Amino acid sequence: MHSSVIQISKSALKNNIDLIKSLIDKSVTISSVVKGNAYGHSITEMVPLLQELNVNHFSVYSSFEAKQVFKVAKKDFTVLIMGDINSNDEDWIIDNAIEFFVFNLARLKQMLSKATEKKQVLNIHIEIETGMNRTGFNQKDWVQIIQLVHANKDFIKVKGLCTHFAGAESLNNYVRVKHQQKVFNKAIKYFKSQEIIPQQIHCSCSAAVLAFPTKNYDMVRVGILQYGLWPSREAFIKYISKHNMNTNPLKPVLSWKSYIMDIKYVSKGEFIGYGSSYLAENETIVASIPIGYGYGYSRSLSNLGRVIINNNRYSVIGTINMNMFLVDITSSDSITIKDEVILIGSSTDLDIPLSSFCNQTDQLNYEVLSRIDKDIPRTIIK
Ligand SMILES: *Cc1c(COP(=O)(O)O)cnc(C)c1O
Repeated sequence: MHSSVIQISKSALKNNIDLIKSLIDKSVTISSVVKGNAYGHSITEMVPLLQELNVNHFSVYSSFEAKQVFKVAKKDFTVLIMGDINSNDEDWIIDNAIEFFVFNLARLKQMLSKATEKKQVLNIHIEIETGMNRTGFNQKDWVQIIQLVHANKDFIKVKGLCTHFAGAESLNNYVRVKHQQKVFNKAIKYFKSQEIIPQQIHCSCSAAVLAFPTKNYDMVRVGILQYGLWPSREAFIKYISKHNMNTNPLKPVLSWKSYIMDIKYVSKGEFIGYGSSYLAENETIVASIPIGYGYGYSRSLSNLGRVIINNNRYSVIGTINMNMFLVDITSSDSITIKDEVILIGSSTDLDIPLSSFCNQTDQLNYEVLSRIDKDIPRTIIK
């Protein structure tokens, strides 16, 4: 057994998918973004749960992740690769009708040579550069890609035309994102005028679904919201003020639990853990938890983190080690070895939200989640 467990809440996932549905038109497809091992939740566990909720379209970063989805998904599903295709996976992609972003001609030509040889069809999403300047076809290349598609129309199906925004979660980027929307619109018009009719036009990530609810076109690529977290604090505050709410309508899907491995007594005046970052100013009772930065519990929570034990909150003291950290439990007289320790999640009265990690350590919730060790077992709870 591992020294900790990740619990995945089915009812929380349903709550979040329902919320996303309430924000988009009925005709809009939800593509569930499950890159980064489903934002740390585990592709293997999440894909079947999402399918139970009638979500059957999955976006991943790489062909490596696409294979993980393919392994656990059941009939009538779509996998879309938004980023890397390993050359060893090209045949597999074609044979299994895996869809993929195309953002340069070399990739398309390479896949095309394989597809023509096999007499199979490529299912591509043409990614348009609209201003993020990461991947996507610049306007000057539009003519060339269109020509290539027309010249090979028996082997290329244009499933999608898409782009990605450079930070729709913050008003700071408002002007830039608005400009991106304009360029994207122009691209849609141009491609259609050249008789490229994509089945699905898509651009919205979670933040865009929240910020531009009428601009979703045919599909949204939603990641962070489905896991019950906000793309930014700003997006959360904006949402609850707009809807006149005083509670968070999202429910976090993931909680993370471990246990007390050992308890010991430390005399006044001693340093605790590596170095001298924590001084016991009084007699201190110290509990050790068998979790550390090696499992994704960030070292920047040293002397800052909090955990819940028996429905009370306690503080991390000293530095987070690779496999262990220490908590000051002096104020309790009832804690014993093997008691449950909540790292992320809630007890009867208390809550340690993932967002508290982010406030304390200046990490994104995306970052904290995707770093949680994939070997920690995930169990599904109600
Ligand atoms: C990660 C990603 C998304 C999803 O972003 P969220 O903020 O988690 O909704 C959508 N599109 C692309 C291209 C991405 O890389």
